[in-house]
Amino acid sequence: MSTIEHTRTDSDLPARALRAIPGGVNSGQRRVSGLEQTIVTATDGATFTDGEGRTYVDFHSAFGPPLLGHNDPDVDRAVAETSKRLDLMGVAVTPVEVELAEEVIDAIPSVEQVILTSTGSEATFHALRLARAVTGRRHVIKFQGCYHGWHDAVSTNIISAADKLGQKDPVSDGILPEVLDATIVCQFNDLASVEAALEQHDVAAIIVEPIPHNIGAVLPRPGFHAGLRELATRHGALLVFDEVITGFRHAVGGWQTIEQITPDLTTLGKAMANGYPVAALGGRADLLGELSSNPGGRVFFAGTYNGHPAMAAAALATIRKLRSEPVHEHVFALGKRIRSELTALYARLGVPVVVSGYGSVFVTYFQDGPVDHYGDLLRNDAELFVGYRQELLREGVFELPLNLKRSCVSYAHTDAHVDRLLTATEAAVTRALA
Ligand code: PLP
Repeated sequence: MSTIEHTRTDSDLPARALRAIPGGVNSGQRRVSGLEQTIVTATDGATFTDGEGRTYVDFHSAFGPPLLGHNDPDVDRAVAETSKRLDLMGVAVTPVEVELAEEVIDAIPSVEQVILTSTGSEATFHALRLARAVTGRRHVIKFQGCYHGWHDAVSTNIISAADKLGQKDPVSDGILPEVLDATIVCQFNDLASVEAALEQHDVAAIIVEPIPHNIGAVLPRPGFHAGLRELATRHGALLVFDEVITGFRHAVGGWQTIEQITPDLTTLGKAMANGYPVAALGGRADLLGELSSNPGGRVFFAGTYNGHPAMAAAALATIRKLRSEPVHEHVFALGKRIRSELTALYARLGVPVVVSGYGSVFVTYFQDGPVDHYGDLLRNDAELFVGYRQELLREGVFELPLNLKRSCVSYAHTDAHVDRLLTATEAAVTRALA
């Protein structure tokens, strides 16, 4: 068997990457200042190793999927065993897809039926197309600061500059203005802004990250999601919970089971398969039944890799492990310890901060409170936020050095990793402030 090994001798890899791949990386979100020369050669549990042979404790966790840690042996075994005997067929269904669908339905009470996609973007795309089709309406409401993937309808008003707040702020050229005209941007935690939009426009769906984790961790005020549920129902719009981050990570049943909210549609991904490309759209059976996978369904739905057996096996193994082992207890305890010790550390250093997060997720904003919506985060000292994370790299600890990005722990992290994070943070912040 031949293996491809990238070792420290591959010092020309960054240059080769730049020649062969635009910007040298496979996502606009991976173009990070300070990491231009970084090649990741190995991952293992809570750590990764770079091309120079340096090992880092990873608190970025690939934007969230490996809740069990990198290379979880149970998940990897399920993938290997399935792919030995069952390949993608592109017709009919395989047993593992059925078992996975049943597992998701069992885990999330609002999900009566579920379909699989490969990415969260596909799931949110199909949710909005389906919502428009069944309601016969045009508009969708999203919130400033929420990210739902790369497709046109939601590619606006994520991390906006102060002078762009309150207006349409697409993240890309090449999006038809008429597509963005149908997207209404509201303020998180502000039900009045949603009510006004519902009164003025024919709204097919409200799509929301239950916790807008794409700007760190802005927590919902008590009653906000219940209010969204009530407003959506009253105005005949569908409520779409985008639980691509919160699903499985905060509870096996997602944020909706924590707050006891019943959305019409739910999108899932990331922690669902511990890093393998699996995502899902679930919800009311009368809505899902309109997809063209169902005879007579009028909403086109397809995808070559949907339900890939080995990927479905990864998701099934992940969810079963989340249910059978004390994963949430472990990551919640570490997350709580990190948030409380970071709060004490910054108080000792005399640095004003808001340490936020939930469960396994944590983030330090360098500002005063409150933090109720994206606009509040314009007070965050972005230079310090990014600067201390760049210093952290020198300590062998990795939190993504991009403004407002959240960090998190996995089942593979231990108290020793947390000790290392806390010591490294003190050193990094002190240097960044000097
Ligand atoms: N929804 C949310 C809340 C996300 O955070 C993301 C990705 O970060 C997506 C959807 C899109 O998922 P994917 O990157 O798998 O397309």
